[in-house]
Amino acid sequence: MDLFEYQARDLFAKHGVPVLDGEVIETPEAAAAVAERLGGRAVVKAQVKVGGRGKAGGVKLAADPADAVEKARAILGMDIKGHTVHKVMLAQTADIKEEYYVSFLLDRANRTFLAMASTQGGVEIEVVAEENPEALAKIAVDAVEGVTPAKAAEIVAAAKFPAEIADQVAEVLQKLWVVFIEEDALLVEVNPLVKTGDGKIIALDGKVSLDANADFRQPEHEALEDKAAANPLEAKAKEKGLNYVKLEGEVGIIGNGAGLVMSTLDVVAYAGENHGGVKPANFLDIGGGASAEVMANGLEIILGDPDVKSVFVNVFGGITACDAVANGIVQALELLSSKGEAVTKPLVVRLDGNNAELGRKILTDANHPLVQQVDTMDGAADKAAELAAAK
Ligand code: GDP
Ligand code: MN
Repeated sequence: MDLFEYQARDLFAKHGVPVLDGEVIETPEAAAAVAERLGGRAVVKAQVKVGGRGKAGGVKLAADPADAVEKARAILGMDIKGHTVHKVMLAQTADIKEEYYVSFLLDRANRTFLAMASTQGGVEIEVVAEENPEALAKIAVDAVEGVTPAKAAEIVAAAKFPAEIADQVAEVLQKLWVVFIEEDALLVEVNPLVKTGDGKIIALDGKVSLDANADFRQPEHEALEDKAAANPLEAKAKEKGLNYVKLEGEVGIIGNGAGLVMSTLDVVAYAGENHGGVKPANFLDIGGGASAEVMANGLEIILGDPDVKSVFVNVFGGITACDAVANGIVQALELLSSKGEAVTKPLVVRLDGNNAELGRKILTDANHPLVQQVDTMDGAADKAAELAAAK
């Protein structure tokens, strides 16, 4: 989960990373009192989960509280790279002398953590990496050892930070590492980390991405979720404990097992090329022990997606045999129609593996007008794509 800048700033403050005072508001009028509290002058910053806000006009300096109201009015509602601004942060202004870059991230390719640092911050770091790669230091960080004072000094030296701020930057790096570890982050980035006129080092902009796999031990992180922006279908699926991801396509997908579902997406996308380019509409893994209830919940989510034109239920019977899944499908269809949500879109079901014959017979006997069976995965994908294209 990516955080807003103000949320990243709160986490920085919690772990002692130096930041400037600020407050988030949602109406222009609220800017006056906040600017007043901050000393009159303030920087008004769009809160959107995308970089380059400065360039897009989403970061403006306000000279006084009245000006802050005007700047907030100009920024609220702005569209920045497809993200509408619903909140702005007012923060104390910084007297910037230098802008640097530092980050920690998970380096999957090298199976380690990585520190990146540069004295050329404030600009897009991808541009620095492209045009001036030697200006971006990359230092591996051992997961167990972490950022010790020696490791921090190594990063500072590799990025060639000036001597007079070396100790301060090293300290900030160690605190950012604490944020990274204690908050179970996948990315902690500060751009710019600034040196002020009086020689202080401050994190002026922060980007943090949290690892959702650690949610179970981070109860406070739930409050950081942007519920308003969540896809309503994904939110509903999450409530029901389903592994669902909305995609842009027309063929709803249900399968048991993440690997099977992923390959189903590929097969449907491939089959779709022969049917006007229809694509899978979602990822949904109902897992091994798919009960009628889980199947009904899954179907309910997928059929509730207006983009879905047909549904492909792809099941490989393992520990849960196909007859149990077939019964689950039949009961799910009954459950939905008893709730007044009767299925109105065609379902293509492919059952294979343990007790496939029995499972197919159960579906055949149930004789639901919108359910048809195809015995192979490729064939079923083709049928589902064809039905989606015909709608
Ligand atoms: P981004 O463009 O989305 O990365 O937003 P940033 O928060 O990094 O702001 C962009 C730029 O605005 C920074 O690199 C700074 O140059 C400038 N900026 C941000 N806050 C202040 C401030 O308090 N004072 C001054 N003078 N400039 C600021
Ligand atoms: Mn920035």
